[in-house]
This record gives sequence, C-alpha cells and structure tokens, in this order.
Amino acid sequence: MSDRYQAEYIWIDGTEPTAKLRSKTRILSAGEKPPIWGFDGSSTNQASGDNSDVVLRPVFQCHDPIRKGDNILVLCETLLIDMTPHPTNTRAACAAMAEKHAASDTWFGIEQEYTLFEGSRPLGFPSGGGFPPPQGGYYCGVGADEVFGRPLIEAHMTACLEAGLKIAGINAEVMPGQWEFQIGPVVAPTAADHLWVARWLLYRIGEDFGISATLDAKPVAGDWNGAGAHTNFSTIAMRESFDACVTAAEALGRRADLHIANYGSGIESRLTGAHETARFDSFSFGVSDRGASVRIPWQVEVDGKGYIEDRRPNANCDPYLVTKLIIETIHEA
Ligand code: ADP
Ligand code: MN
Ligand code: MN
Ligand code: MN
Repeated sequence: MSDRYQAEYIWIDGTEPTAKLRSKTRILSAGEKPPIWGFDGSSTNQASGDNSDVVLRPVFQCHDPIRKGDNILVLCETLLIDMTPHPTNTRAACAAMAEKHAASDTWFGIEQEYTLFEGSRPLGFPSGGGFPPPQGGYYCGVGADEVFGRPLIEAHMTACLEAGLKIAGINAEVMPGQWEFQIGPVVAPTAADHLWVARWLLYRIGEDFGISATLDAKPVAGDWNGAGAHTNFSTIAMRESFDACVTAAEALGRRADLHIANYGSGIESRLTGAHETARFDSFSFGVSDRGASVRIPWQVEVDGKGYIEDRRPNANCDPYLVTKLIIETIHEA
C-alpha cells in the first residue's frame, strides 16, 4: 500500500463524426476521492483556444486492471464551467431519460464488434497485400490459419473482468481480424459506461501488442462483413410477455429514420441488405431473422417472453445515444 495512487481520468472528446476517447493521469493521496478536474478543450474539438477550459466530472470508477494495486479508472462526463453538460456530453440526457422511465427497469446487452489492425492491414490479411480466403471459416473459429489476435482478446477479457465490468462473453467474427465482446444485461447509463471503459481498455491493451482496434462500420469494402453493435434490450413487461416484445419492435419501426440517424457514422455503408443486415432505409422485424432490422430471438418466442435485438447500431455508435433513444421510443413513440 502506497500513500498515493493513480487515477486514469477517461472522457469522450468532440471529434466528428465519431468521438474519440481521451485520458490522462492524476496522482491522488490514499483515501482521497477523485475530484472534479479539467482539460484543454481546444485540443479535443470541445472549446476554442481563448475559452478552453472543459470540466471533467467523475461518473463511474473501477479498479485499474493494467496498473493494478490501488489504482483506478475514472470515467468522466464533460461539463461547461457553469457545470451544465458540455454540448458533446451525451451521457447527461441518457441518464435523465433512464431516470424518467426507471419504473420499467430497461436492461441492455450490447454486442461490440471491432476489427484489429496492424498498421494499415486488418489482422489476418496477407502482409504482401491482397486478400485472405473468403469468409466462411472465421466466425467462432479456432486455429492459427483462421483466428488472429487471440492473445490481445484474452488479455482484454481478463482486464474487463478484473475491472468489474459487466462483460458477458466474446467471439471471433465473420471477417478475419474481427471480434466481438458483449456488455450486459444492465441498465442505462451503466451499460454505456461499461462499454466506453471496455473500449478504452481494448485500445490501451492493444498498445502493448502493437495492434490497434477500430470501430469503423465497414473497415474493408466489398464482400466482407461490417462491424455493428447489436443492442439487445428488455423492460419488465418484455421480460414477462411476448406481446410486449412485439409492441417494442413496432415502436422502433415508427421512428426508424431517427434511430438510423443516431446509430453511428457510415451506417449506409454497413446496412446494405447483405452480410446479415437489413437496408438502412427499410424497417422490419421477425423471429430468428438476421436479415431484419430487429430480431426476436427464437428462445423468446418459445418462452413467450424475454428481449429483442436491435441489429442496426454501428460498431462506432455512441451507446449513450442508442440506449437513450431506445428508452424514449419504446415509452413515448
Ligand atoms: P447474438 O446471438 O445476437 O450473437 P449475443 O449472445 O452476442 O447474441 O448477445 C446477446 C446479449 O443480450 C448479451 O449481452 C446478453 O447479456 C444480452 N441479454 C440477454 N438477455 C437479455 C435481456 N433480457 N435484456 C437485455 N439484454 C439481454
Ligand atoms: Mn453476438
Ligand atoms: Mn456479432
Ligand atoms: Mn447479435
């Protein structure tokens, strides 16, 4: 036990169209709680140089599985100096929406897909250029000819567990170098808090392996799967009745365009109607249908209750926006 410890302050910046994660370290005295802090918003697309201070307010903290010991990760929301949410802070509205409809106890399970790169080449693509054998054997595969990046993925999963994040599982995906981890089921904004910290851990542990992860929705053009963030959710009513699951799917259909507009940059390049997607400009739902916008898992039909899967969010979505909008739509649309 040292008399001081390290707190890694993590926040979401103002990069457009897709925000990036930033972090910096603060040394605290043993027993001292992580205080409000700040940063130079002119370097993160969150302020102008002559009025550059942006405030960091801790909203979620956990054990730091990289530094270990007493050290912690501190996820923050960004505020203006009058302590109101910064325009790029999407968490505040998510938390308010979840609070407004807290009585229905909406749980989320988010499947984060991502693609590993070594330099400009997806992991598993030939180093001399060109393409690997076509998709088919990579999904949930095993063996050095089909699976790429396992040591990093295992280290990431262990780190998420040690941090106490609600990680639900991992799998190798359809394109070589593509993987998925799931967070949930848990309420908003916690699901999104855990997802953002898990993303940060993925990038940070990737540094140690010389591998970068991207959430790009369509990292390789052509006959290669894109990367999504299927968002499974349930209210108390849905966990008790199949009809409530169908009602929620119908509500999503009434505001399909609004959801597509908030589900991540480049969504048209991924939701083409091919590669287990429905087109971005059409809405459909069905039991077991991986070509629908929204899938009702077969087990839910059998059980007559459960949850549904919104398959539309991109890998690069902001889970605060996605979970906020789903809660709003199923209760208010
Ligand atoms: P898929 O078959 O689409 O690949 P996954 O197993 O990857 O599904 O992900 C399913 C996700 O749904 C998991 O994160 C799981 O925790 C979550 N989930 C399970 N039950 C519920 C529920 N009742 N409400 C919300 N999420 C749930
Ligand atoms: Mn999955
Ligand atoms: Mn998947
Ligand atoms: Mn899925």
